[in-house]
Amino acid sequence: MKILVAEDDATSLFMLQSLLMKWGYDVIAASDGQEALRVLTGENPPLLAILDWMLPGESGPEICRKLASRERLREGNAAREEMMKPYQYVIILTVKGEKENVVAGLEAGADDYITKPFDAHELKMRLMVGRRILDLQEKLRNAALFDALTGLLNRRAVIERLEQELARASREATPLSVALLDIDHFKDVNDTYGHASGDAVLVESAQRIRSSVRPYDIVGRYGGEEFLMVFPGAEGSALDGICERIRNAFQGAPFYSAENDGDRSTMDITVSIGISEYKKDNDNVDFILAEADRAMYRAKRSGRNRVSR
Ligand code: GH3
Ligand code: MG
Ligand code: MG
Ligand code: MG
Repeated sequence: MKILVAEDDATSLFMLQSLLMKWGYDVIAASDGQEALRVLTGENPPLLAILDWMLPGESGPEICRKLASRERLREGNAAREEMMKPYQYVIILTVKGEKENVVAGLEAGADDYITKPFDAHELKMRLMVGRRILDLQEKLRNAALFDALTGLLNRRAVIERLEQELARASREATPLSVALLDIDHFKDVNDTYGHASGDAVLVESAQRIRSSVRPYDIVGRYGGEEFLMVFPGAEGSALDGICERIRNAFQGAPFYSAENDGDRSTMDITVSIGISEYKKDNDNVDFILAEADRAMYRAKRSGRNRVSR
């Protein structure tokens, strides 16, 4: 597990580093506050950090305050984007006896503190507590963002991602499209093969969609048997191509029912897809979703197993 250690005292940094490496941590060292903040707010940041109270540039508590993940409660889009980021657990290093520092550090948003000179065993145990909290945070975050059955983003999370992508498309004047997919006659699957088979079809559907799109396309479970896809950079015939590929991923191979007395039935499953492209005058989430919904119903009305605009 990655851990950031920010400490300007070379001897103390060396000691911490060797201990942490001995315990199996992947240590990133920083000797000033700016460097520490850059690492913590960068791409793929460490989730655990030990910050010295006194650092050149930014102090430990200042870093805590600036960490975006500590500002979840702020209103607006920025805060919502922050919610998608994993929790970061910060331990502040203070000099023994400076009690007011401890209070101020925790107030600034640190999760824990340890006093210098520190006891190695105590540090080890406090890191374990931190990892326990990170584990819990990760579980909570997963429950808040992902659909339990399919593992895709849930309805709220996929709409939030769409909002972010719409803002980006508008800011950078880049194309953006959404597609709403609804499984055809899904009620019949449940009625004929049972609810467990319906669930199995939903899980397999999620996999087929995911493997038909690019890694940076966004896929979420929008409702019972409806999936919402967001395609940054896609428009026109390229978008038609992606959606045809998804449609073919369904009709191209049969699905299997849940096991019944050791037997599985095969089922032919098709989908109807409605597309909506972002345009300058419709950079509104509700509008683009309503348009995709209308297109999807056109696909249903004109015979299902097709893509409509
Ligand atoms: P259409 O082609 O018009 O879309 O017909 P349909 O049968 O797919 O549409 P309808 O909306 O009538 O049925 C959707 C069904 O999806 C009804 C509901 O019981 C089922 N469903 C919704 N969520 C789940 C789920 O999580 N698991 C299972 N097994 N079924 C679900
Ligand atoms: Mg220092
Ligand atoms: Mg439906
Ligand atoms: Mg349906």
